[in-house]
Amino acid sequence: MSFYTLHDCPIFGVHLNIPGEKVPLDGVVISGESEVDESLITGESRPVMKTSGSRIIGGSMNLYGTLIFEVTATGKETVLSGIIKAVEDAQNKKPHIQRLADRIVGVFVPAVLIISALTVAFYLLNGAPVQRALMTGISVLVIACPCSLGLATPLSVLMFTTMASSKGVLIKGGDVIENASRLTGVIFDKTGTITIGRPVLKEVVVLDNNINKEHVISLAASIERLSEHSIGHAITEAAKGLELFNVSEFRATTGKGVEGTLDGKRIFIGNRIFMNENNSGVTSLNEDILQFERNGDTVVYMAWDKTVRAVFIISDIIRSEALEAVDKLKGMDLETFIISGDNKTTTDSIALAVGINNAISEALPVNKKEVIEDIQNRGGNVLMAGDGINDAPALTEASVGMAMGRGTDIAMESADAVLVRNDLKSLEFFIQLSPQGQWQQALSL
Ligand code: ADP
Ligand code: MG
Repeated sequence: MSFYTLHDCPIFGVHLNIPGEKVPLDGVVISGESEVDESLITGESRPVMKTSGSRIIGGSMNLYGTLIFEVTATGKETVLSGIIKAVEDAQNKKPHIQRLADRIVGVFVPAVLIISALTVAFYLLNGAPVQRALMTGISVLVIACPCSLGLATPLSVLMFTTMASSKGVLIKGGDVIENASRLTGVIFDKTGTITIGRPVLKEVVVLDNNINKEHVISLAASIERLSEHSIGHAITEAAKGLELFNVSEFRATTGKGVEGTLDGKRIFIGNRIFMNENNSGVTSLNEDILQFERNGDTVVYMAWDKTVRAVFIISDIIRSEALEAVDKLKGMDLETFIISGDNKTTTDSIALAVGINNAISEALPVNKKEVIEDIQNRGGNVLMAGDGINDAPALTEASVGMAMGRGTDIAMESADAVLVRNDLKSLEFFIQLSPQGQWQQALSL
């Protein structure tokens, strides 16, 4: 049962969803609380908690509570339609190998028909009975008919996409199969990919004696609430219940930080590079702060009037499966890299924790792309896994771009495939499905 409270129109407006009912459209919960089964979309069988502000996806099942939500997408705009379209596109897009097979078949079939006809003619001319001549001609046809070539290729593409999606990897095109079989390395973004991407504000160090901690958090959150970055969310969350101020001229610099004008003051929040660029050089760091970086925490600075006023220590959790996933990839002779916009100490620490051999830090979006170009120019082929706006160029550049399902839309748009369940272990299954992976498995039998 459904009814519509604000609008009569069953398309946009407010929708009431009762337990046991399928969520009909995409939306954002306005009120109510419930657990929702999203396994149809994500493959994850555990119910997901939804409260005010949560996004819900059309096609999922409301389990326990009543949810009132505002419809945000209908028809072709919904997540489910997007997935269906991506699968259809993938199945329609012919990979290179299939085009090659089609070309071969195009020449092969007429050639076989001609040879078969010539065979019949040859036998007849040499005085063989008609029946014998026809039988021989048909034998040529049966033996040479290349239907296996023409049929097996699209079938194997279909099998690959279907099996990959059952393992939580949604593939956008047939070419991915070929590219996945040539991989020499895997590059991971740090925040949101190796880590879960739900960081929390752990500590605030105030360097300016004229302001207190609460005020610093209020100022920072007033700016950060305008940012889509997970660091912004962490700071905004920490300011719950505090007064927030109006900010004008907000600007985000991808991979560096954010800035905004508040009470006539231009406030900058970001990493060390961002501070230096805005003439608020971070000169001496106290030992406590360095220790946080060594632990893998992200350190973000806040400055105005060319002076750093406070330091925010932000901590994210490493995905539980990351260590095992990296280990499996290394076992497949793949080189592993971590690449991040964060500073060197933090990035190195996370790399060490999950066993990644190569760490590249303080990388801007364009640097991430360049690193991949460089590896590929030297004959390598890499899979890039990432989630952010800052990963989009790299995801496009890599042989295989793999976006996290929780990632930004632009990451998913730029990538060739999506890790729907955000489970890094799916990478191993995915690579094993590729022809090279199958070979390796066959050889090890
Ligand atoms: P990653 O490559 O690990 O995903 P990003 O490139 O998104 O990281 O960010 C790099 C660095 O830029 C962060 O570690 C942080 O220091 C700074 N930064 C980015 N966005 C913000 C923000 N909204 N607020 C403060 N600092 C930010
Ligand atoms: Mg990221």
